[in-house]
Amino acid sequence: MKEIIIASHNEGKVEEIRGLLKKYKLKIHSLKKFSNIEPKENGNTFIENSVIKAESALKITGLPSISDDSGLCVPALNNDPGIYSARWAGKEKNFALAIKKIEKKLFDKYKNKKKIFRAFFCCALTIALPDGKIKSFEGKAFGTLQFPPKGENGFGYDPIFIPKGYKKTYGEMKYSFKERISHRQKAFKKLENFIAQL
Ligand code: IMP
Repeated sequence: MKEIIIASHNEGKVEEIRGLLKKYKLKIHSLKKFSNIEPKENGNTFIENSVIKAESALKITGLPSISDDSGLCVPALNNDPGIYSARWAGKEKNFALAIKKIEKKLFDKYKNKKKIFRAFFCCALTIALPDGKIKSFEGKAFGTLQFPPKGENGFGYDPIFIPKGYKKTYGEMKYSFKERISHRQKAFKKLENFIAQL
């Protein structure tokens, strides 16, 4: 059985990537088992940050590593929080607060003039292999924002995102359903061919 590292300290993401990988005969480790060190995410794009994380995990473990950098982009806020999606929640990882920040910024900018706000999730997955190969793939999911937040499922900004064509937020969807339509799944589809060759 081949081994692989999920290069993330975010349990929500680790579980989702584990789910996406389950059909492969891989021994999956969370990076937490090896190290608590999180590299500085000083890239300017989701892909740059995912490369930083995958390379760091490969360096620590010597094993093939898959990283995820993702976030919610709101065009009406110049695509914020974007690559800063985790940082908007602060050290406490308080996503209720991060969601309130988005709502307040939209209210301050538009008052009651605009009711529907477009948003998209972006996910960059990078796989770094011990032989030096490194590949990145991106997936996006488009939709609109929902205030107040709805649903207890998922993580992060799931309770405020309604994917296009649906009436429920990610937070109201079962994981097995989100898994079929999410930004992460779209990026993962592109990564699959590569994994099949491992
Ligand atoms: P990072 O990629 O670890 O820097 O963090 C990305 C942040 O974006 C996460 O902490 C989540 O808050 C948010 N995010 C990324 N993907 C999702 C998702 O599928 N649902 C909800 N929030 C997400």
